[in-house]
Amino acid sequence: MHGRLHMVEKQIAGRGIRDPALLNAMRLIPRENFVEKGFEMFAYNDCPLPIGKGQTISQPYMVALMIEAAEVKPSDTVLEIGAGLGYATAILSRMAAHVFAVERHASLAAGATERLQRLGYDNIDLRCGDGSKGWPKAAPFDAILVSAAALEVPQALKEQLTVGGRLVIPVGPEESRQTLLKIVRKGSDNFTTQNLGAVIFVPLISEHGGTEDYN
Ligand code: SAH
Repeated sequence: MHGRLHMVEKQIAGRGIRDPALLNAMRLIPRENFVEKGFEMFAYNDCPLPIGKGQTISQPYMVALMIEAAEVKPSDTVLEIGAGLGYATAILSRMAAHVFAVERHASLAAGATERLQRLGYDNIDLRCGDGSKGWPKAAPFDAILVSAAALEVPQALKEQLTVGGRLVIPVGPEESRQTLLKIVRKGSDNFTTQNLGAVIFVPLISEHGGTEDYN
């Protein structure tokens, strides 16, 4: 418990994150439940950690920066792409009305579902699949968070925003310079883009021609 409060004060509030609902959610969520077995003791360190399948849970500050940029409100419906074991999903579920989440690795999606159920969070729908096309049946979303880097902003995600909706997404090639973008939908075909700085994420893998039935 001490480690978690210390993390929030030093790494999150200490670096300028202000959203009270976000800080409260981060004080509440046990991050040690969302890392690969054996790494629990490092759960409140200032770094990414493995979650299995060559994927990582993002550095806590990066999760906070993205969620604050997404301006999540209690009445919001949120989509998260790249849920991993579900840490950011858990935080979002404490801040929003409902969270839809997509994870392409079946074992991670199953691990996330199990963890989120164990914590009793019942305002989440999580599926395994390619999230680069969003979740059309559940759209529109007030906020969309993408936790893996796309080569370019997927058009489908912009189309699934409400007017006023925010899309926070890292864009750029793997192992190279990526930029965190905040895109706000101002009208049906009117978007603004803000650059939130350089970041490093695992790649968003798009599976073309998939037959998954969640459209
Ligand atoms: N939000 C997670 C971060 C997980 S890392 C956390 O809080 O821990 C990014 C995740 O994106 C990986 O688990 C990876 O499998 C997933 N991913 C990559 N491409 C994807 C795609 N097209 N659709 C859904 N998930 C994807």
